[in-house]
Amino acid sequence: MQHGGFPTMPREILIVGAGIAGLASAIALSNNLSSIAPSLNISVYDGASEFTTSGGAISLTPVAQRYLDELGILSELNQMGDEAGIEVDAIDLFSVRAGRRLGPLRFTDENGHGYGGYKGRRVLRSALSAAMLAVARRLPNVSVYHGMKLVGGSTTPENVTLKFEDGSTVTGDLVLGCDGVHSATRTKIVDPGNRSEYTGISFIQSMTDTRNLPTPMPFNQTAVHLARHSSLLTSYCDPKQEKLFVAAVVRVSEHLIERYQAISETDLSAQKNMKMSMRYLVRAQFGMSSLPYIREIIDRTEDWMLYPVYQVRQRGKWHADRILLLGDAAHAMPPRDESAAYAVEDAIIFSKLLAQNPDCQLVTLFEEYENLRRGLVNKAFDASRRLWQSDLDKGLFPGQARDLMSSLHLPPDSCVGKCATKPITKTNLPAPTHESFSDLSVYSLTSDLGRSADATNG
Ligand SMILES: Cc1cc2nc3c(=O)[nH]c(=O)nc-3n(C[C@H](O)[C@H](O)[C@H](O)COP(=O)(O)OP(=O)(O)OC[C@H]3O[C@@H](n4cnc5c(N)ncnc54)[C@H](O)[C@@H]3O)c2cc1C
Repeated sequence: MQHGGFPTMPREILIVGAGIAGLASAIALSNNLSSIAPSLNISVYDGASEFTTSGGAISLTPVAQRYLDELGILSELNQMGDEAGIEVDAIDLFSVRAGRRLGPLRFTDENGHGYGGYKGRRVLRSALSAAMLAVARRLPNVSVYHGMKLVGGSTTPENVTLKFEDGSTVTGDLVLGCDGVHSATRTKIVDPGNRSEYTGISFIQSMTDTRNLPTPMPFNQTAVHLARHSSLLTSYCDPKQEKLFVAAVVRVSEHLIERYQAISETDLSAQKNMKMSMRYLVRAQFGMSSLPYIREIIDRTEDWMLYPVYQVRQRGKWHADRILLLGDAAHAMPPRDESAAYAVEDAIIFSKLLAQNPDCQLVTLFEEYENLRRGLVNKAFDASRRLWQSDLDKGLFPGQARDLMSSLHLPPDSCVGKCATKPITKTNLPAPTHESFSDLSVYSLTSDLGRSADATNG
């Protein structure tokens, strides 16, 4: 595989999944490698149709925003008018039962500036995807194919072959498995048997038109309403404040999830019944709130959809021969609203490692990448799990609050590791995400607020 003077440099890069990690990888690889590998081809394959609009709205931390800016995605998003989402300066916390405001969690400094120039953002997933696709498609060496569901494949030290549902195959030098929490790249090739696990937590979410709501909202951008066993997130998604994203974060039994997933797309009556069950679940948790606008939101919101949260078991394999897993495919964890930042960070770190070490064996690069990421991901995973295990029952939503407080990464000092033949270069890699948390413990603040709400409510 002689290539532009670098004997081991991959020329045909295949990416499975055109989600956040997949498109960020394509863009970062193209940006970092094009000058040293002029004949590079990056092909991205996604199993879904290009035009899926499901998924509601995602919260991007300041860290995620900074990475998206680095990749040119933020400026693309900012040109999308109402679809660009909204910047979030603060989350307002309310007690559902006491019906009172507990306080704002501000994500800006005293002058109203975001951390390192970036605030949080709430944006529709479909809009973020459109912005990422637009940037990727402008790159001459990137091609994105939809309707290409990976069903299997094989990897050897020499090359890697992917097999798709339509029977087609493709062969390349390097595969990045970015196909999310249920990754076929992981379960069929890299780490067979390592299937995703349900966390017990689900989002039941929908969008509401605020023009149908009689009572004005008492928050500016985003609010979290704390109940004893769950929380309700409400967030505008557009500058006109006409679209409200509503998500109930609740425990849902695995049995119900299985029933939900077993409903066929053509069984309209079963679908209708399940939607009514979702509505009932949300009403049971929040319908008795003493906050009138919450009752109105719950009353007037239709089409609740269930999004169970899955995780990938820790310490599973991340690579095999010429395949590396990135993003949720490698390390999906219980929600902390920072997972998208981790996915983009994975992409940027691996792309920089590859660009800085084009003549290094892939296996050595994968090991170096894992050395850089594994400990951090494990810590983040443990922290997420602890938060959810101990706090969901107190009705907190710690990830949302804490993660938007993340300050920006500081580039670490240049460092040098060992390669088979020469030291691996690792300059200007982003600092680990979880180390960027603000010293101000927002989590303990929300705990205190939650406790005081509980005490008030008896
Ligand atoms: C309910 C819920 C709410 C969340 N909210 C937030 C939030 O507010 N902020 C945040 O930062 N994170 C949030 N997360 C986590 C975040 O969505 C993920 O961490 C992030 O999307 C991971 O990106 P990814 O590219 O690794 O995976 P994904 O975004 O899941 O992308 C995977 C892609 O692979 C494709 N694919 C899957 N299987 C195949 C196959 N066999 N063949 C080909 N293609 C395939 C899919 O179509 C998809 O496009 C949330 C997660 C859940 C479940």
